[in-house]
Amino acid sequence: MKRLVVLGGGESGVGTALLGKAKGYDVFVSDKGKIKTKYRDVLINNEIDWEDEQHTESKILNADIIMKSPGIPHKVEIVQRLIAAKIPVISEIEFASKFTDATIVGITGSNGKTTTASLTYHILKQELHVGLSGNIGDSFAKQVLDEDFDNYVLEISSFQLDDCKHFKPKIAIITNITPDHLDRYEYDFEKYIAAKFRIAMNQDSNDYLIYDSDDNVITNWLEKHPVQSTLLPFSLKRQIENGACLDKDNIKITIDNNQIIMPTKDLALEGKHNIKNAMAASTVAHLLKIRKQTIRESLENFHGVEHRLEQVLKINKVQYINDSKATNVNATYYALESMDAPTVWIVGGQDKGNDYTELFPFVNEKVKAIICLGVDNEKLMKNFSSMVDVIVETQYMAEAVKIAYKIAETGDNVLLSPACASFDLFENYEDRGRQFKEAVRNL
Ligand code: ADP
Repeated sequence: MKRLVVLGGGESGVGTALLGKAKGYDVFVSDKGKIKTKYRDVLINNEIDWEDEQHTESKILNADIIMKSPGIPHKVEIVQRLIAAKIPVISEIEFASKFTDATIVGITGSNGKTTTASLTYHILKQELHVGLSGNIGDSFAKQVLDEDFDNYVLEISSFQLDDCKHFKPKIAIITNITPDHLDRYEYDFEKYIAAKFRIAMNQDSNDYLIYDSDDNVITNWLEKHPVQSTLLPFSLKRQIENGACLDKDNIKITIDNNQIIMPTKDLALEGKHNIKNAMAASTVAHLLKIRKQTIRESLENFHGVEHRLEQVLKINKVQYINDSKATNVNATYYALESMDAPTVWIVGGQDKGNDYTELFPFVNEKVKAIICLGVDNEKLMKNFSSMVDVIVETQYMAEAVKIAYKIAETGDNVLLSPACASFDLFENYEDRGRQFKEAVRNL
């Protein structure tokens, strides 16, 4: 019997443990932190051996195979030991994909993964037997075990890809690549780019790579490191023969001379970035032979995911928008770009070495006031003080929203798009977004 040791007792770890057990492995789960009750109960009910708040080496170093949760960095001691002992360390995606013949759509990138994955799933599920997983919802491994879908749409982070070896999605998407999480890549942007491209490393010419060809990081990399995949780029700027582009005010998708056209004004989601996300998702749908009418209708009635440019409420003709998931400058870039009215902007949090320069034109043009919401707001003050008449700081969401309410006038927007992580003042970005929405509802 082969021994599978799972490091990390969260959603992906426990899912892998269940699948591993069903496939005849001797399974052990070890977590250095505390395993949540709901997961501990699953392990106990399924008679899977586990430990938490420790790593007992004698029970780990005897593994034939290790599944490491993506949250655990390679540099931690136990992982270093395993690598030195030449025990294969893989991700949940790698492990679970061995046990399914389903058609896999893998989606990675710096921004837009969740939106694009959710939108793709929304279209495909109208006509196909399909699961949505990866960083979203129930773990992929658990779905392979319980549901055995014919198709999967997987949101995949670079951390998951780092520990993939044979993973070979039929369709891969790279939404875009901008610097993020560099702390896990020795502050080397090239390493981070390489990690993202691992999504295509096992693809051949029968597989597809969909990507943003307006993104120079992606196109430069592809020139130097060609892939075997059939390329289906999308672009807002140029014409594309095979792939997606704009034709006047329409999205045009062409695959082997078979075309689908739809007006961008019919998209329920706003902003240029969402035209790109829609292009990527519809290219997948077109490849998988979803009817054109279904694709069009799905794009018209998909209203987005919580905390991503989410329209919260209109009060006194002021629109309040929750973009709490914008935890880096690039995401906020697209939020500000999509603002079509004077905007009171709530920004700040834990800075990840942000360079705000690319936001300057939008701030000059559209932002009438800035509310800094972080423990340390000095950098924001320094960057933006000269650009707006009003810039204030606070450490409380309710106060930030009240100030915004006082400043905003008929027709304005109030936008929470922090460009920073949330951990200085909030539990996570969801907590930040929910506090914003609650404060707005309490106005
Ligand atoms: P991810 O799962 O990659 O973090 P999300 O779909 O959750 O991406 O979106 C994260 C943030 O990025 C949100 O603020 C969203 O509005 C913005 N965003 C969505 N799609 C794109 C895109 N294609 N390019 C840039 N930013 C995007």
